[in-house]
Amino acid sequence: MKKEHYGTVIIGAGQAGLSVAYFLKKIDQDFILLDEGSQVGDSWLRRRDSLKLFTGAQHGSLPGFSIPAKRGSRPTKEDMADYLSNYASKYSMPVQLDTKVLELNKSSDKYEIVTSKGKLNADRVIVATGTNQIAYTPAFDTLEVEAPLTSVSVDNLKEASIVWTTGFRPDFSWIKIDIVGQNGWPQTHRGISDKFKGLYFVGMLFQYALTSGLSGGSSRDAAFVVNHIKMEKAK
Ligand SMILES: Cc1cc2nc3c(=O)[nH]c(=O)nc-3n(C[C@H](O)[C@H](O)[C@H](O)COP(=O)(O)OP(=O)(O)OC[C@H]3O[C@@H](n4cnc5c(N)ncnc54)[C@H](O)[C@@H]3O)c2cc1C
Repeated sequence: MKKEHYGTVIIGAGQAGLSVAYFLKKIDQDFILLDEGSQVGDSWLRRRDSLKLFTGAQHGSLPGFSIPAKRGSRPTKEDMADYLSNYASKYSMPVQLDTKVLELNKSSDKYEIVTSKGKLNADRVIVATGTNQIAYTPAFDTLEVEAPLTSVSVDNLKEASIVWTTGFRPDFSWIKIDIVGQNGWPQTHRGISDKFKGLYFVGMLFQYALTSGLSGGSSRDAAFVVNHIKMEKAK
Protein backbone atom coordinates (compact mmCIF):
# COMPACT_ATOMS: atom_id res chain seq x y z
CA MET A 1 0.00 0.00 0.00
CA LYS A 2 1.27 3.47 -0.84
CA LYS A 3 -0.36 5.00 2.25
CA GLU A 4 -2.17 3.66 5.30
CA HIS A 5 -4.89 6.29 5.36
CA TYR A 6 -7.00 7.87 2.61
CA GLY A 7 -9.86 10.33 2.68
CA THR A 8 -11.83 8.00 0.40
CA VAL A 9 -11.34 4.41 -0.70
CA ILE A 10 -13.34 3.28 -3.73
CA ILE A 11 -13.65 -0.50 -3.85
CA GLY A 12 -14.01 -1.64 -7.46
CA ALA A 13 -12.59 0.06 -10.56
CA GLY A 14 -15.29 -0.91 -13.05
CA GLN A 15 -17.52 1.65 -14.70
CA ALA A 16 -19.24 2.57 -11.40
CA GLY A 17 -15.99 3.06 -9.47
CA LEU A 18 -14.40 5.03 -12.31
CA SER A 19 -17.44 7.31 -12.57
CA VAL A 20 -17.18 8.05 -8.85
CA ALA A 21 -13.45 8.72 -9.28
CA TYR A 22 -14.14 11.16 -12.13
CA PHE A 23 -16.38 13.33 -9.95
CA LEU A 24 -14.31 12.87 -6.81
CA LYS A 25 -11.17 14.12 -8.56
CA LYS A 26 -12.86 17.49 -8.96
CA ILE A 27 -13.31 17.96 -5.20
CA ASP A 28 -10.66 15.83 -3.48
CA GLN A 29 -7.50 14.12 -4.65
CA ASP A 30 -7.01 12.02 -1.54
CA PHE A 31 -8.50 8.75 -2.77
CA ILE A 32 -7.57 5.38 -4.18
CA LEU A 33 -9.43 2.75 -6.20
CA LEU A 34 -8.81 -0.86 -5.22
CA ASP A 35 -9.56 -3.70 -7.62
CA GLU A 36 -8.88 -7.39 -7.47
CA GLY A 37 -8.52 -7.57 -11.26
CA SER A 38 -5.14 -7.48 -12.96
CA GLN A 39 -6.31 -4.81 -15.43
CA VAL A 40 -9.08 -2.25 -15.56
CA GLY A 41 -11.96 -3.76 -17.54
CA ASP A 42 -11.43 -7.29 -16.26
CA SER A 43 -15.07 -7.77 -15.32
CA TRP A 44 -16.01 -7.45 -19.02
CA LEU A 45 -13.19 -9.71 -20.20
CA ARG A 46 -14.39 -12.46 -17.87
CA ARG A 47 -17.78 -12.57 -19.65
CA ARG A 48 -18.68 -14.91 -22.53
CA ASP A 49 -16.64 -14.51 -25.73
CA SER A 50 -19.46 -13.51 -28.05
CA LEU A 51 -20.79 -10.78 -25.74
CA LYS A 52 -21.78 -7.48 -27.30
CA LEU A 53 -23.40 -4.77 -25.24
CA PHE A 54 -27.17 -4.76 -25.63
CA THR A 55 -27.08 -0.98 -25.25
CA GLY A 56 -25.81 1.27 -28.05
CA ALA A 57 -22.37 2.86 -27.69
CA GLN A 58 -23.87 6.26 -26.90
CA HIS A 59 -25.48 4.86 -23.74
CA GLY A 60 -22.34 3.20 -22.34
CA SER A 61 -20.06 6.20 -21.94
CA LEU A 62 -18.70 7.45 -18.65
CA PRO A 63 -18.59 11.17 -17.86
CA GLY A 64 -16.09 13.31 -19.77
CA PHE A 65 -14.94 10.84 -22.42
CA SER A 66 -17.24 8.98 -24.82
CA ILE A 67 -16.82 5.46 -26.16
CA PRO A 68 -15.07 5.95 -29.52
CA ALA A 69 -17.72 4.15 -31.57
CA LYS A 70 -20.58 5.11 -33.84
CA ARG A 71 -23.92 5.98 -32.29
CA GLY A 72 -26.11 2.87 -32.38
CA SER A 73 -23.21 0.42 -32.73
CA ARG A 74 -22.88 -2.23 -30.04
CA PRO A 75 -19.41 -2.49 -28.48
CA THR A 76 -17.94 -5.94 -27.85
CA LYS A 77 -16.77 -6.92 -24.37
CA GLU A 78 -13.18 -6.21 -25.51
CA ASP A 79 -14.20 -2.73 -26.75
CA MET A 80 -15.75 -2.02 -23.35
CA ALA A 81 -12.73 -3.32 -21.43
CA ASP A 82 -10.35 -1.23 -23.61
CA TYR A 83 -12.53 1.81 -23.16
CA LEU A 84 -12.51 1.50 -19.36
CA SER A 85 -8.76 0.94 -19.34
CA ASN A 86 -8.20 4.00 -21.56
CA TYR A 87 -10.56 6.00 -19.38
CA ALA A 88 -8.53 5.19 -16.27
CA SER A 89 -5.30 6.18 -18.08
CA LYS A 90 -6.73 9.38 -19.58
CA TYR A 91 -7.66 10.71 -16.14
CA SER A 92 -4.63 9.19 -14.36
CA MET A 93 -6.93 7.37 -11.97
CA PRO A 94 -5.09 6.09 -8.88
CA VAL A 95 -6.03 2.43 -9.33
CA GLN A 96 -4.31 -0.25 -7.31
CA LEU A 97 -4.86 -3.56 -9.12
CA ASP A 98 -4.47 -7.15 -7.92
CA THR A 99 -5.83 -6.05 -4.56
CA LYS A 100 -8.84 -7.97 -3.30
CA VAL A 101 -10.77 -6.43 -0.44
CA LEU A 102 -11.35 -9.21 2.06
CA GLU A 103 -13.12 -7.27 4.81
CA LEU A 104 -14.65 -3.90 5.44
CA ASN A 105 -14.97 -2.94 9.12
CA LYS A 106 -15.94 0.24 10.93
CA SER A 107 -14.46 1.63 14.11
CA SER A 108 -15.82 4.72 15.86
CA ASP A 109 -14.35 7.29 13.48
CA LYS A 110 -13.01 5.47 10.45
CA TYR A 111 -13.33 2.51 8.12
CA GLU A 112 -10.81 -0.31 8.09
CA ILE A 113 -10.23 -2.07 4.77
CA VAL A 114 -8.50 -5.43 4.94
CA THR A 115 -7.03 -6.40 1.58
CA SER A 116 -4.90 -9.12 0.06
CA LYS A 117 -2.06 -6.56 0.14
CA GLY A 118 -2.51 -5.34 3.72
CA LYS A 119 -4.75 -3.00 5.73
CA LEU A 120 -5.67 0.61 5.24
CA ASN A 121 -8.03 3.14 6.79
CA ALA A 122 -10.36 5.71 5.31
CA ASP A 123 -12.77 8.42 6.39
CA ARG A 124 -15.25 7.20 3.80
CA VAL A 125 -15.70 4.15 1.59
CA ILE A 126 -17.55 3.80 -1.70
CA VAL A 127 -18.46 0.25 -2.61
CA ALA A 128 -18.56 -0.20 -6.41
CA THR A 129 -17.94 -3.92 -6.65
CA GLY A 130 -20.78 -4.66 -9.07
CA THR A 131 -23.73 -6.96 -8.66
CA ASN A 132 -22.63 -9.97 -10.66
CA GLN A 133 -20.08 -11.84 -8.54
CA ILE A 134 -22.04 -15.04 -8.05
CA ALA A 135 -23.69 -16.91 -10.93
CA TYR A 136 -27.04 -18.14 -9.70
CA THR A 137 -27.66 -21.81 -10.41
CA PRO A 138 -30.86 -23.57 -9.38
CA ALA A 139 -30.66 -26.40 -6.86
CA PHE A 140 -29.97 -29.03 -9.56
CA ASP A 141 -26.58 -28.44 -11.24
CA THR A 142 -26.84 -30.64 -14.32
CA LEU A 143 -29.73 -31.97 -16.36
CA GLU A 144 -29.72 -34.34 -19.28
CA VAL A 145 -31.63 -32.94 -22.25
CA GLU A 146 -32.18 -33.56 -25.93
CA ALA A 147 -30.64 -30.80 -28.10
CA PRO A 148 -31.66 -28.42 -29.58
CA LEU A 149 -33.40 -27.32 -26.42
CA THR A 150 -36.59 -25.37 -26.87
CA SER A 151 -38.41 -26.44 -23.75
CA VAL A 152 -37.81 -28.82 -20.92
CA SER A 153 -40.14 -31.46 -19.65
CA VAL A 154 -39.49 -34.73 -17.89
CA ASP A 155 -40.00 -36.48 -21.30
CA ASN A 156 -37.10 -34.78 -23.11
CA LEU A 157 -34.53 -35.18 -20.32
CA LYS A 158 -32.24 -37.67 -22.09
CA GLU A 159 -28.75 -36.71 -23.31
CA ALA A 160 -26.41 -33.67 -23.50
CA SER A 161 -25.46 -32.20 -20.11
CA ILE A 162 -26.10 -28.52 -19.54
CA VAL A 163 -25.51 -26.23 -16.61
CA TRP A 164 -28.28 -23.75 -15.92
CA THR A 165 -27.23 -20.30 -14.89
CA THR A 166 -30.14 -17.99 -14.48
CA GLY A 167 -28.58 -14.71 -13.52
CA PHE A 168 -26.08 -13.33 -11.07
CA ARG A 169 -26.07 -12.24 -7.47
CA PRO A 170 -23.96 -9.74 -5.59
CA ASP A 171 -21.57 -10.78 -2.82
CA PHE A 172 -21.49 -8.49 0.19
CA SER A 173 -20.31 -11.15 2.66
CA TRP A 174 -16.97 -9.33 3.08
CA ILE A 175 -18.74 -6.22 4.44
CA LYS A 176 -18.67 -6.70 8.22
CA ILE A 177 -20.99 -3.77 8.86
CA ASP A 178 -24.72 -4.14 9.41
CA ILE A 179 -25.73 -2.47 6.16
CA VAL A 180 -27.24 -5.32 4.13
CA GLY A 181 -30.97 -5.74 4.67
CA GLN A 182 -33.29 -8.74 4.61
CA ASN A 183 -33.64 -8.34 0.85
CA GLY A 184 -29.90 -8.90 0.41
CA TRP A 185 -29.16 -5.33 -0.68
CA PRO A 186 -27.41 -2.45 1.09
CA GLN A 187 -29.92 -0.22 2.85
CA THR A 188 -29.21 3.25 1.51
CA HIS A 189 -30.90 6.34 0.16
CA ARG A 190 -29.70 6.57 -3.46
CA GLY A 191 -26.41 4.94 -2.41
CA ILE A 192 -25.92 6.99 0.76
CA SER A 193 -26.09 5.25 4.13
CA ASP A 194 -27.99 7.19 6.80
CA LYS A 195 -26.86 4.74 9.48
CA PHE A 196 -23.14 4.74 8.72
CA LYS A 197 -21.75 8.17 7.91
CA GLY A 198 -19.23 7.95 5.10
CA LEU A 199 -20.43 4.66 3.63
CA TYR A 200 -21.67 4.75 0.04
CA PHE A 201 -22.63 2.37 -2.77
CA VAL A 202 -22.71 2.91 -6.53
CA GLY A 203 -23.78 0.55 -9.31
CA MET A 204 -26.40 -1.34 -7.30
CA LEU A 205 -29.53 -2.57 -9.09
CA PHE A 206 -32.39 -0.10 -8.69
CA GLN A 207 -30.22 2.07 -6.42
CA TYR A 208 -32.23 4.99 -7.75
CA ALA A 209 -33.85 3.85 -10.98
CA LEU A 210 -34.06 1.02 -13.48
CA THR A 211 -30.84 2.25 -15.13
CA SER A 212 -28.77 2.25 -11.91
CA GLY A 213 -27.15 -1.08 -12.82
CA LEU A 214 -26.23 0.15 -16.33
CA SER A 215 -23.39 2.44 -17.35
CA GLY A 216 -25.39 5.61 -17.94
CA GLY A 217 -27.37 5.24 -14.74
CA SER A 218 -24.41 4.43 -12.52
CA SER A 219 -22.68 7.64 -13.71
CA ARG A 220 -25.73 9.65 -12.67
CA ASP A 221 -25.76 7.92 -9.28
CA ALA A 222 -22.01 8.49 -8.89
CA ALA A 223 -22.53 12.24 -9.39
CA PHE A 224 -25.26 12.22 -6.73
CA VAL A 225 -23.08 10.40 -4.19
CA VAL A 226 -20.07 12.64 -4.78
CA ASN A 227 -22.24 15.73 -4.46
CA HIS A 228 -23.28 14.45 -1.02
CA ILE A 229 -19.61 14.00 -0.08
CA LYS A 230 -18.93 17.55 -1.27
CA MET A 231 -21.73 18.93 0.94
CA GLU A 232 -20.54 16.91 3.94
CA LYS A 233 -17.00 18.22 3.51
CA ALA A 234 -18.30 21.80 3.36
CA LYS A 235 -20.04 21.49 6.77
C1 LIG B 1 -23.59 -10.42 -19.11
C2 LIG B 1 -23.85 -8.96 -18.83
C3 LIG B 1 -24.07 -8.08 -19.89
C4 LIG B 1 -24.29 -6.73 -19.65
N1 LIG B 1 -24.49 -5.89 -20.70
C5 LIG B 1 -24.73 -4.58 -20.47
C6 LIG B 1 -24.96 -3.67 -21.56
O1 LIG B 1 -25.01 -4.05 -22.71
N2 LIG B 1 -25.15 -2.35 -21.27
C7 LIG B 1 -25.13 -1.87 -19.99
O2 LIG B 1 -25.29 -0.66 -19.78
N3 LIG B 1 -24.95 -2.71 -18.95
C8 LIG B 1 -24.75 -4.04 -19.15
N4 LIG B 1 -24.57 -4.88 -18.09
C9 LIG B 1 -24.77 -4.35 -16.73
C10 LIG B 1 -23.62 -3.51 -16.18
O3 LIG B 1 -23.37 -2.40 -17.01
C11 LIG B 1 -22.36 -4.34 -16.04
O4 LIG B 1 -22.61 -5.39 -15.13
C12 LIG B 1 -21.16 -3.52 -15.53
O5 LIG B 1 -20.01 -4.31 -15.58
C13 LIG B 1 -21.40 -3.02 -14.09
O6 LIG B 1 -20.31 -2.19 -13.75
P1 LIG B 1 -19.83 -2.06 -12.24
O7 LIG B 1 -18.68 -1.13 -12.25
O8 LIG B 1 -20.99 -1.74 -11.38
O9 LIG B 1 -19.40 -3.53 -11.84
P2 LIG B 1 -18.24 -4.44 -12.46
O10 LIG B 1 -18.04 -4.17 -13.89
O11 LIG B 1 -18.56 -5.83 -12.03
O12 LIG B 1 -16.94 -3.90 -11.71
C14 LIG B 1 -16.73 -4.17 -10.34
C15 LIG B 1 -15.25 -4.20 -10.10
O13 LIG B 1 -15.05 -4.46 -8.72
C16 LIG B 1 -14.02 -5.40 -8.57
N5 LIG B 1 -14.26 -6.12 -7.32
C17 LIG B 1 -15.34 -6.87 -6.99
N6 LIG B 1 -15.22 -7.34 -5.74
C18 LIG B 1 -14.03 -6.89 -5.28
C19 LIG B 1 -13.32 -7.04 -4.04
N7 LIG B 1 -13.84 -7.73 -3.01
N8 LIG B 1 -12.11 -6.46 -3.92
C20 LIG B 1 -11.59 -5.73 -4.93
N9 LIG B 1 -12.20 -5.56 -6.11
C21 LIG B 1 -13.41 -6.12 -6.28
C22 LIG B 1 -14.08 -6.29 -9.81
O14 LIG B 1 -12.82 -6.85 -10.11
C23 LIG B 1 -14.53 -5.29 -10.88
O15 LIG B 1 -13.45 -4.73 -11.59
C24 LIG B 1 -24.32 -6.24 -18.30
C25 LIG B 1 -24.08 -7.14 -17.24
C26 LIG B 1 -23.85 -8.48 -17.50
C27 LIG B 1 -23.64 -9.41 -16.33
